[in-house]
Amino acid sequence: MEPALLLNASYEPLSIVDWRKAITLWWRGKAEVLVSHPRKIRSATATIDLPSVLRLQRRVKIPRHRVTFTRANVYRRDGFRCQYCGGRFQSQELTFDHVVPRSRGGDTSWTNIVTSCRPCNRTKCSRTPGEAQMPLLSQPREPRWWPFSASAGNLDDHPEDWKPYLWT
Ligand SMILES: [Zn+2]
Repeated sequence: MEPALLLNASYEPLSIVDWRKAITLWWRGKAEVLVSHPRKIRSATATIDLPSVLRLQRRVKIPRHRVTFTRANVYRRDGFRCQYCGGRFQSQELTFDHVVPRSRGGDTSWTNIVTSCRPCNRTKCSRTPGEAQMPLLSQPREPRWWPFSASAGNLDDHPEDWKPYLWT
């Protein structure tokens, strides 16, 4: 059955829990359900909405999970979407683009690297998005957490419901 995304009281994603754990947290009053699955489970006496996103009532301290800066993780952050034309591509058709070109002192970091398809990368060349009149789909940021890093193969499988909570 569908897992649930567990958020800290501060809304940071903490982990993905299975539905039994999700129900238990809710039942014990440890977490509130923010979003439910359309699916319900039935016991002998009650029908319960299956939680999809839960938030802990009390904040737990967690060490900050840093996402390693790699080409693959940049593509994942950007959803394998070229940040200029918006097209989705396979990783072999994608490339790194320095938003501020290296020749202008742009660094290779989360905030200056975006996913680009090869044609857009060639068109933009060593210009800034402003000069090239190629606005970015979104401002590149360091991802704070990666609930789906363990299952790199099915990045798009996490529910639509979770997306607003993954990039806080
Ligand atoms: Zn493109």
